[in-house]
Amino acid sequence: MTVSSSGGPNDALAESQWRRCPFTGRWVVMAQVRAGRPMDFARPAVRRDGAFCPFCGGNEEFTTAELAARRDPATPANAPGWRVRALPNKYPAVLSHVDGTINDHALFVSRPGVGVHEVFVESPEHFTSSSQLSAEQFADVLWIYRQRLCDVRRDARLRYGLVFKNVGALSGASLEHLHSQLLATPMLPATISDELASGASYYQRQRRCLFCDVIAAELAAGERIVATTDEWVAFCPYASRFSWETWILPRQHQSDFTCLTDGQLGSLGSFLRQILGQVEATLPLVSYNYLLHTSPFDTLALEHYHWHLEILPRVTSVAGFEWGAGFAINTLSPEKAADMLRQAP
Ligand SMILES: [Zn+2]
Ligand SMILES: [Zn+2]
Ligand SMILES: [Zn+2]
Repeated sequence: MTVSSSGGPNDALAESQWRRCPFTGRWVVMAQVRAGRPMDFARPAVRRDGAFCPFCGGNEEFTTAELAARRDPATPANAPGWRVRALPNKYPAVLSHVDGTINDHALFVSRPGVGVHEVFVESPEHFTSSSQLSAEQFADVLWIYRQRLCDVRRDARLRYGLVFKNVGALSGASLEHLHSQLLATPMLPATISDELASGASYYQRQRRCLFCDVIAAELAAGERIVATTDEWVAFCPYASRFSWETWILPRQHQSDFTCLTDGQLGSLGSFLRQILGQVEATLPLVSYNYLLHTSPFDTLALEHYHWHLEILPRVTSVAGFEWGAGFAINTLSPEKAADMLRQAP
């Protein structure tokens, strides 16, 4: 990698490159390689019974080599016998090794497209809906999130790892077999910077965690609560951007998802399965994204941040006003949404 301060608008675009928008300061990944990704969902999604699927058990030779798996100990890597697998994404947006220069031009700032992009195959069976996974399979999926985040954070170039899942055509999923992804990046996602800043400013004034206080207030009010256990809470946030948006948080303060114990993975697996089941029962065949927001790689336990899972149903697509203004329009109140989710079977 070379450093350049004289580059400019004509610097050649590498395979993958980070470019900073001079107007908003936000980073954009230019990922040429992704043009080759599957176009399964270029048309409205249909159930493609019988079509070849590389993620199904038995088709391991058609995927990239596994990075980690939970499998029968008597079975070798990249063979059947697994319950969940982590693979390098075949069409990565960012790359671990990439050519390119650090470019600090006054207007056109870029970085090589460094990062890690992995995919987690959540079951050997061709499941397309989360409600088909057992509670144990959910715990396996959460186990692989923890395992891969712990491993990837050791790369000193990377500051953040976002785990996310796309289900259904409107969510951006390009393969229907249930899977989630990890995108680890050298810069903090803007959403995380915003949440950290709000948490830090609240902590400075109140000496308490913003998220813990919101949890306490939601539990006291009750009207936006979807479900609770001794350890977990799910509610529709006060300023939900999406109809039926639902967040899951640990009730005990915890900033870093990788600190979860095996016991917590098991109980969270059951709880997440229950909540996604309520979402899918309320909105049959809905597309949704869920995202894991945890603390940055280079932080130790934080008093002012609290990890959480955001479930974002995609009932309508983002339109002009949202893109143009950055304001979401939500036509369903979170109070009503929580009421509907509570009544789901
Ligand atoms: Zn499959
Ligand atoms: Zn907290
Ligand atoms: Zn968040």
